[in-house]
Amino acid sequence: MAGEQWVYDFSEGSKDMRELLGGKGANVAEMTRVLGADRVPAGFTITTEACVAYMRADKREPEGMAEQVESALERLQEQAGKRLGDDEDPLLVSVRSGARESMPGMLDTVLNLGLNDTSVQGIARATENERFAWDSYRRFVQMFGNVSRGIPGEAFEDAIKNAKGDRNVKDDTELDVEALKELTDTFKGIYREHTSEDFPQEPEEQLRLAIRAVFDSWMGKRAVEYRRLNHIPDSWGTAVNVQQMVFGNKGDTSGSGVAFSRDEVTGAPEPSGDFLPNAQGEDVVSGVRTPRDIAEMKDWLPEAHEQLMEILRTLESHYKDMQDTEFTVEEGQLYMLQTRNAKRPAQAAVRFAVDAVSEGLLTKEEAIATIDAGRLDALLHPTFDPTADYDVIAKGVSASPGAAKGEVVFTAQDAVDAAGEGRDVILVRPFTEADDVAGFHAAKGILTSEGGKASHAALVARGMGRPAVVGADALAIDLKARTISVNGTELHEGDRIAIDGTTGQVTTEDVPLVEAQVNEHFEQVLEWADEIRRLGVRTNADTPDDAAKARELGAEGIGLCRTEHMFMAEDRQPKMRAMIMAADEEGRREALADLLPLQQEDFEGLFEAMKGLPVTIRLLDPPLHEFLPNLVDLSAQVERARIECTDDLEQLERLLSRTEAISEENPMLGTRGCRLGILFPEIYEMQVQAIMRAAKAMDEPPHPEIMIPLVDYEQELEIMRDLVVRVGDGEGLHEGEDYTVGTMIELPRACFVADRIAEFADFFSFGTNDLTQTALGFSRDDVESKFVPTYMRRRIIDRSPFETIDKPGVGWLVRLAAWVGRERKPDLKLGICGEHGGDPDSIEFFHMAGLDYVSCSPFRVPIARVAAAQAAVIHAGDRDWAYTQA
Ligand code: PEP
Ligand code: MG
Repeated sequence: MAGEQWVYDFSEGSKDMRELLGGKGANVAEMTRVLGADRVPAGFTITTEACVAYMRADKREPEGMAEQVESALERLQEQAGKRLGDDEDPLLVSVRSGARESMPGMLDTVLNLGLNDTSVQGIARATENERFAWDSYRRFVQMFGNVSRGIPGEAFEDAIKNAKGDRNVKDDTELDVEALKELTDTFKGIYREHTSEDFPQEPEEQLRLAIRAVFDSWMGKRAVEYRRLNHIPDSWGTAVNVQQMVFGNKGDTSGSGVAFSRDEVTGAPEPSGDFLPNAQGEDVVSGVRTPRDIAEMKDWLPEAHEQLMEILRTLESHYKDMQDTEFTVEEGQLYMLQTRNAKRPAQAAVRFAVDAVSEGLLTKEEAIATIDAGRLDALLHPTFDPTADYDVIAKGVSASPGAAKGEVVFTAQDAVDAAGEGRDVILVRPFTEADDVAGFHAAKGILTSEGGKASHAALVARGMGRPAVVGADALAIDLKARTISVNGTELHEGDRIAIDGTTGQVTTEDVPLVEAQVNEHFEQVLEWADEIRRLGVRTNADTPDDAAKARELGAEGIGLCRTEHMFMAEDRQPKMRAMIMAADEEGRREALADLLPLQQEDFEGLFEAMKGLPVTIRLLDPPLHEFLPNLVDLSAQVERARIECTDDLEQLERLLSRTEAISEENPMLGTRGCRLGILFPEIYEMQVQAIMRAAKAMDEPPHPEIMIPLVDYEQELEIMRDLVVRVGDGEGLHEGEDYTVGTMIELPRACFVADRIAEFADFFSFGTNDLTQTALGFSRDDVESKFVPTYMRRRIIDRSPFETIDKPGVGWLVRLAAWVGRERKPDLKLGICGEHGGDPDSIEFFHMAGLDYVSCSPFRVPIARVAAAQAAVIHAGDRDWAYTQA
């Protein structure tokens, strides 16, 4: 039986083989096909699987690999018409890493391999350029020593410095042949000193060691750290590309450069890039010499420039995406060394998409697919100027995008007061609670030391479009002393601080901000997204302002109004407390009667803002203690009142005893959601009455959808639905005509019995925040700053399940509920209103789960529109999982 193929010639590969050949190997192979063999230096790729086998076998090359490398090398020598180590006109090769995803600068590369004491003479003769030959040899010894044997770079750099000092010259390029010969000898001495071995003269031995070094660099510290930050699995391994060297350092008609098919920052159609005459590739990127703009290449070598421009166009239309390339000119002859899809900021991504369609390069569908939807946020919020220099004092979870600067305040009240005086403030707290919401409005930004993407602070900040960094656990916040200690320094109330919720950075410096840029290209992309997508996009909004903002950004209705936020306003809270404090139902009804007109006003505002569109209103969900003062603070207050015998002692004691009575060990699993509605139906009755009256007060009938939270048992929904219908009837409005009734699906049991629940529901809305919390048993307010980072480091998970839906676990529950719910009721409307509704990866999943819409915070609406369109493009023609035969 033939053994495994570990080595592929470039002529055998293609861009579809990136898992096996790595990104670079697959693209070089593809480019060889597209541009022809004389534009791309020949070579071969050792597969990622060989690297994986090598790691598994404790750093032993897999069987057959050495022989395959040998015969690939033989073919390469034949094709090039040159041999490694030859003393006439030797072949030299580069040995480069190339993982499936690019990991810039993380893995190792060796250039000029094949040089030794003999072949250096051959190169000198063949090129009639002795200086070039010795310059290449000393570079090779240096790189090989550093990469293959771990000799510190400074050892070589110091020797270069000395050589220049001895000869009184400034630049490396001023060192003459004699100097370079001496330097090569010095380098070989350094090699001997560090390894106790002579520099290897046998090219095959050099190649073997270099391949091992690239494999080993995959497990190097830098690379491991990079993969952890970028969610790249260790198990992929890297490929190794061995390629015939061409030389950019052969004199004035040679050079090296990088070129983008379009401007990589703005996306404008002119190619951009840098080049250096008489230089090898690493000189361009290392910053040792200042490179020149690609446009100037026209004056230097007009023909090569013209060819390069033509090639960029060819590659772009072949790959159907913006390209990022590396090239070398050797004595006037242009060679392309690599190409890949260009990573680019959001503004360049939308500009490219629009231009590519108008140029006829891409269809709308293809153009939409080239955009990284998650990054579009940057177009809607100001951010720290990416070119600015500043010290980051702490980094947290990027919870709500945008940058903000202001004075530190520690309480919501201080934020409100400061805003009243026209001061910009950042509200800093260990974590936030319902009570703090007024402070969110007043502050420019929110910073917490605890919590994650689904924490209260993150949710509310995103909902309001306030920048927020949460879970910045390097900050020790002392609310009593009103100080923040961080890495040995102390910040006080009033000190200036800046946060960037797009990157999670916190700084005390006055970083310049760059403004949001919603432009015509973005508008165009969104318009196309709307034509393509199947999923509807709604918003989570609790105020008319948020609703209006979301509508402006394209929301097609409200998917979740969290009514509890309405009871936090200053005029509401005392009334809410009075209701909770009431001794009996009659007392509660009295207090609720005071809230009714206010609540009606709230709904009228929402209906007005969302005229003609559906508005999903969720009845009260959080545990009641969230509306009462904090138990610890209150106990202290009572203690003080007792000592001072103040007049409000009795009232405070009553408040304390009530707060104690309703406090729970696990309030998130306690008396909340529809359980409140079952225990205190009068609360839900008031809310429903307010909805009905608001509806009647509108000129144009609205589309209210009344939603019951946290349903476990179908009986709960049955009882709640009866309550809604009874109140509706009393107001003269009818279920199915004037409004609908549905439920959140946010508990595992509800997913399992979704068919039974569907019996009583016109719609389901998946509450994936609570569903993630309850399915995984992960407290949503704690885990992201506690163990999720460790879980990511240990590769148990690659991102927070509160950010991207856990597809096999929580996602399965969603699929199941969608499927059996629709089986029971084919026209059941299905939506999702957890935070995942604004996450592109999760949106693709919801598209396939057969949902009708996603709902997300206002500023994520454009992202969701584009992501929904991408899902439709990717899965065009696929039948969704909830599909049931009629
Ligand atoms: C949810 O649980 O996903 C949800 C939307 O509700 P909340 O975040 O208010 O609990
Ligand atoms: Mg919930």
